Amino acid sequence: MARRKKIYEGKAKTLYEGPEPGTIIQYFKDDATAFNAEKKAVIEGKGVLNNMLSEYFMTGLNTIGVPTHFIKRINMREQLIRAVEIIPLEVVVRNRAAGSLSKRLGLEEGMALPRPIIEFYYKDDALGDPLVTEEHVVAFNWASQQDIDDMIALALRVNDFLSGMFLGVGIRLADFKIEVGRVYDGDFQRLILADEISPDSCRLWDIETGRKLDKDVFRHDLGDLADAYTEVARRLGVMPRTNGRATGPKLVN
Ligand code: 5GP
Repeated sequence: MARRKKIYEGKAKTLYEGPEPGTIIQYFKDDATAFNAEKKAVIEGKGVLNNMLSEYFMTGLNTIGVPTHFIKRINMREQLIRAVEIIPLEVVVRNRAAGSLSKRLGLEEGMALPRPIIEFYYKDDALGDPLVTEEHVVAFNWASQQDIDDMIALALRVNDFLSGMFLGVGIRLADFKIEVGRVYDGDFQRLILADEISPDSCRLWDIETGRKLDKDVFRHDLGDLADAYTEVARRLGVMPRTNGRATGPKLVN
């Protein structure tokens, strides 16, 4: 088999050149990182779960007309996506106080916010992805004011869709992060949802028990991360019978 050309290797995913121009293969690794990669581990099965879950969310979003980079899942760990020019921002939507917002403003974790709050973080590992204002975004030319308005509209649609979907299976979507990319259609550019949506990039709390079902389990040593992600997948009806872990060869008598 011809070796594929690696385009980019991130902390949780690797990108390879796709079969057609303008396409990319996104490979989901089992690597977990937190605190700007100060904490690292390999969580067997995480890549499979995130691939399946991201497919599920992106497909649902496509169905309601939210444009995404997702084309199709290829196998347990890979999906075919549209090549985009990534805007160097993490767009965070928050429904409940948690994480860096709680820390920064002294808000108790779990507090309902008066409305969804959107924040922008500049994607730069060396700087630890700092929070930035719209002024910074426009002044440094990371995105235009129109792009910002489009990203906010996109993020709020994703929030409504995901919140409803999770609510239906007894999970509260406290917050999440998305990334947005530009695609060009002739002279026109438009923004589409890129990267992934998975428990790696969301805070998901069981509504009845408060159990955490997201990467905070790994960040704060709260239990088995693959079990938490499997629970999310099970409730949504994605991969209901397996936890994504590879099963070894079995002795057959
Ligand atoms: P916080 O700013 O509270 O740390 O994160 C807010 C939300 O965005 C959380 O759901 C968190 O998982 C997600 N998030 C923030 N930064 C990153 C990141 O670099 N990678 C991923 N996968 N998610 C992030």
